Amino acid sequence: MEVVDAQFSHQISLLLEPPSPLQVKEYFHELTTTNHLHGIQVKPTNHYGKGVYADVDFEEEELVLKDQMLVGMQHSSNKIDCLVCGCCFRFIGSIEIQIGRKLYLQGLGGGPHDDCFNEKVELLMHERLELPHSKKFPLPEVINCPGGCKEVYYCSKYCAQADWDSCHSLLCTGDGSKSISNKALSKFIQHANETNDIFILAAKAISCTILKYRKLKAACDKEKQKEKNHLSDVLGNHNFSLLLKAWKPLSMGYKRRWWDCIALPDDVNVSDEASFRMQIRQLALESLELLKAAILDEECLPLFSLEIYGHIIGMFELNNLDLVVASPVEDYFLYLDDLPETEKKEVDEITQPFLDALGEDYSVCCQGTAFYPIQSCMNHSCCPNAKAFKREEDKDGQATILACKPIKKGEEITISYIDEDLDLEERQALLADYGFICKCARCVEEDA
Ligand SMILES: [Zn+2]
Ligand SMILES: [Zn+2]
Ligand SMILES: [Zn+2]
Repeated sequence: MEVVDAQFSHQISLLLEPPSPLQVKEYFHELTTTNHLHGIQVKPTNHYGKGVYADVDFEEEELVLKDQMLVGMQHSSNKIDCLVCGCCFRFIGSIEIQIGRKLYLQGLGGGPHDDCFNEKVELLMHERLELPHSKKFPLPEVINCPGGCKEVYYCSKYCAQADWDSCHSLLCTGDGSKSISNKALSKFIQHANETNDIFILAAKAISCTILKYRKLKAACDKEKQKEKNHLSDVLGNHNFSLLLKAWKPLSMGYKRRWWDCIALPDDVNVSDEASFRMQIRQLALESLELLKAAILDEECLPLFSLEIYGHIIGMFELNNLDLVVASPVEDYFLYLDDLPETEKKEVDEITQPFLDALGEDYSVCCQGTAFYPIQSCMNHSCCPNAKAFKREEDKDGQATILACKPIKKGEEITISYIDEDLDLEERQALLADYGFICKCARCVEEDA
């Protein structure tokens, strides 16, 4: 066992204890009330812990829920393709910046273009070259990170501040960073980018919890100063109860250790399963050591145990939804394509070289992964009544859940965790990775 794990085994088991039905009820009641979410209710159930239920009737295709993520990230490999807000994941800048930046970054890898074209790309990226009709697709202005890292950008001062306060201040590599060592932080990020970028999301979850803990503690210290009658010997326990409070949003997600629940890749032999799982555990340990060097907080030590780190990543593995935001570059080129023939010819002369250079992937979506507190409570069905689906107007990283058939008040809202078109055996095999045997109406029927 790792040192922190042994020393804090009691605290760790308290952090990992599944919430009681009452805690589930209270937490989600507060969450749905503060976020003004109507028409749904999260309730404890006897089989799976909790489920989401309709509080009103929904028609087919009606919006059931827009769920604000708890933590989310853009995949590192997607950062060349899209410039998005680091907080709400909206596209930012302008059509020119989106196209110019992507071509410029691709060109750094040694593109086939001539100097004249490269010059145009740089002009585009710095918005000194305007493309026809681009103003019809306005995007929010690019706001820098207040810590000065030049790694993350935002759509507004509001998003910049919200991200800074909730988690980025500890994970920023700029001069204003609140990390222990920016060098150590860069090492952690590099390791994640080379191995599995899910570690970056785990770091965000830990950072959020630490910062929330510090806020709670500051508020508590203020109270105490007013009272001036506290006993210092209860301080230790008292701080842990604040850590539990800060951890609460994460405590609600269903968890297993990452190395226990990760699906065995197709290229790994079943006989090598044990050593594969050991390797995954080792990888997590390496990452955790790097993260400790960057942001360790002595008062939040249990968070830096391998047990907690493994369970956070396992929670993402079991619950996360793909974060997808459609690119405005696609809309832009579709618009140009629809112009009257004479004008189209004129416009094409300017835009075609860029479109050619972008190639088939001219409008890659923003792609990432995120944990959504309410969507993650939705149970699976192979004949679900709802689905995650982004509509034209959904331009940020929130999860959008639509009814895919009429739902009656009181009914449970279900989604499919897997491809529903697979046959019974394949579905059951995939669902086994989630740790359950599906007993939905369709499975029962097909089994009989
Ligand atoms: Zn934003
Ligand atoms: Zn920063
Ligand atoms: Zn089923």
